[in-house]
Amino acid sequence: FNHRLERTEKLKIISDLAASVAHEVRNPLQVTRGFLQLLAGRGDNESKKHFNIAVSELDRASGIITDFLTFAKPELETVSPLNLAEELAQLEVIIAPHAAMYGGRLHINADPGLTVIGSSSKFKQALINLLKNSIEAFKEDGYIEINAYEEDGEAVIWIKDNGEGMDEAQIAKLGVPYFSTKSKGTGLGTMVTFRIIEVMKGTIDFKSRKGQGTEVLIRLPIASDAAREEAAVAAAGVLPNN
Ligand code: ADP
Ligand code: MG
Repeated sequence: FNHRLERTEKLKIISDLAASVAHEVRNPLQVTRGFLQLLAGRGDNESKKHFNIAVSELDRASGIITDFLTFAKPELETVSPLNLAEELAQLEVIIAPHAAMYGGRLHINADPGLTVIGSSSKFKQALINLLKNSIEAFKEDGYIEINAYEEDGEAVIWIKDNGEGMDEAQIAKLGVPYFSTKSKGTGLGTMVTFRIIEVMKGTIDFKSRKGQGTEVLIRLPIASDAAREEAAVAAAGVLPNN
């Protein structure tokens, strides 16, 4: 039975396949998106409206594919030392307008010099998925506070929102694929976040109260000198991952 594949080998084939399909599908979606926007610019108001719906539905499809791709291959990109304060500042640029659109705001407080090891884009995706949930849970005067600090030799990222919160049953289902309470939810966001934090050798915990808000506590190993060196060698040396 030497044609029998080991389970890990099979999983690797499946995740490689999923990743390449996701890649291939994303490109035509992007091209289609570009043309739709072009056409929207030329149409009357009624057709503009339809084109815009088409574009946002394409974005939704792209989002699902991105989540799926990350889940299948969370280690896709090369890792490097990530300065948390810098990463969070970059995130703020992306997330603040989104929060404002939903009538809320966010406040970031990060100790400078705190460094972890990971892929910058994956790490940002992990946090964006969480922050989007906070924003989507906003009631009036939505507020998100993000603190990054060192505790017990670990880097801690503590996110706190004043949104609609969750009950015990909901918390227990976080990270289960397709669990969503939203009409247009995918139920993939937290699953992807869990996976990324896991790959970064961290932990993530939720505390929430219905009607009060949600707290997320992420703990990550602080980048040791050895780990920084390793990441630098990996980034400078060998072939790019993809
Ligand atoms: P989706 O956002 O597509 O529903 P997620 O995996 O991101 O999928 O989240 C799953 C569910 O967990 C959400 O539908 C929501 O019910 C709940 N949830 C996650 N984060 C929060 C939060 N900060 N506040 C309230 N509910 C949340
Ligand atoms: Mg979500």
